[in-house]
Amino acid sequence: MFKLDVRSIILIAGIMSLLMAIALHFMKRNYPSSIKGLAEWAAAPMILFVATLLFAARGAIPNLFSIVLANLLLFGGASLLYFGSQRFFGVGPSIPLWSGLAALVLLPIAWFALIEPHHGIRVALIASFMASLAFAHARLILSSGPHTFSTYFAGAAQLLLAFAQTSRFFVSFDLPAGDAIFDNSSSSQASYVAIYAFAILAGTIGMILMATDRLRGELEHLATHDSLTGALNRRALIDACELELARCRRNHGVMALLMIDLDHFKAINDTHGHPVGDRVLIDFVARVKSLLRQPDRLGRFGGEEFVALLPETPLNEARVVAERLRAMIEAKTEDLPPCTVSIGVTVSRSDDAGLDEIISRADAALYQAKHAGRNRIESVIARPQ
Ligand code: GH3
Ligand code: MG
Ligand code: MG
Repeated sequence: MFKLDVRSIILIAGIMSLLMAIALHFMKRNYPSSIKGLAEWAAAPMILFVATLLFAARGAIPNLFSIVLANLLLFGGASLLYFGSQRFFGVGPSIPLWSGLAALVLLPIAWFALIEPHHGIRVALIASFMASLAFAHARLILSSGPHTFSTYFAGAAQLLLAFAQTSRFFVSFDLPAGDAIFDNSSSSQASYVAIYAFAILAGTIGMILMATDRLRGELEHLATHDSLTGALNRRALIDACELELARCRRNHGVMALLMIDLDHFKAINDTHGHPVGDRVLIDFVARVKSLLRQPDRLGRFGGEEFVALLPETPLNEARVVAERLRAMIEAKTEDLPPCTVSIGVTVSRSDDAGLDEIISRADAALYQAKHAGRNRIESVIARPQ
């Protein structure tokens, strides 16, 4: 029958770890520092690579290195991968817990390697540590990650490792006392190492996928949001409005636009300074968002001018929202200069040529509000003659 040579598989696992370490190292260098955990993810496969070299040298070097040190590095590398995932998901790494457990397991491993050799007990100890860590890792990824392919892939890799280690734990009771060096006739040993190699490869690929997903999310956010206030930027808001307008046309629905402009904002800047003006804008967006409903969108149209899109909202309701918004902004915020807003309200019409026409109406309504003395709302629904 086809036989797997254990030492070769261990070496292949090591080389895979090394390749993944290189890939993760370059990701760590090129990805923004806002994505945490990459340093740990890059260092861990390097440590696992050294561990596999020591495992593979079994028989050629003292057992202190090929068993005790190799397992110390195996535990260290696997824990570091987990700590990287913890940092990736914004959880503090549980270093004391896992170092303590590793020490607790490594002491008897050293005893049953150097003083009273017993392969079975060693395997049971190693498998119980590795299985616990892999289950904790799988749980962290599957409970903290978004519902995406990368999360499931990375979680499944840890589950595979966990189940392989659990079954190895049970197999360990059949292993005899004494010490077998690379028992190639034992298919369980060979398949365990093969699954381990596969799971480490799949696990690190999962981490690369998760980091790439996160990066894509951050870039998408940067491309669609205003960096100061966190509101949608002009382009993203227009995209959202176009999408909503198309839906209105399909469903014969109506959407409302509020064009909101802060009153005499230049005076706030001139009196209190630009940084305070910035804080007023940030506070304004936070307050408006707290008032809007879930499907509503708020975008920064430019400077101190914002547009709120209210899907499926007729004029009377839109006016109520606008008035509520105006009153809320007028109410003073602690430690910020008072400010007011003027709001132009309009709704889509079935005979509108396009979005530009709706925006022009909202603009005209805003102009009326400014002209009528500011800190008020006005609405326009008629098409310009
Ligand atoms: P009105 O009531 O007619 O709208 O008067 P206003 O002063 O608000 O309007 P104006 O257009 O004269 O001035 C807008 C000011 O908004 C000028 C500009 O410096 C300021 N501004 C635009 N963007 C920012 C920003 O990001 N931060 C700060 N602090 N100020 C900004
Ligand atoms: Mg203004
Ligand atoms: Mg303005």
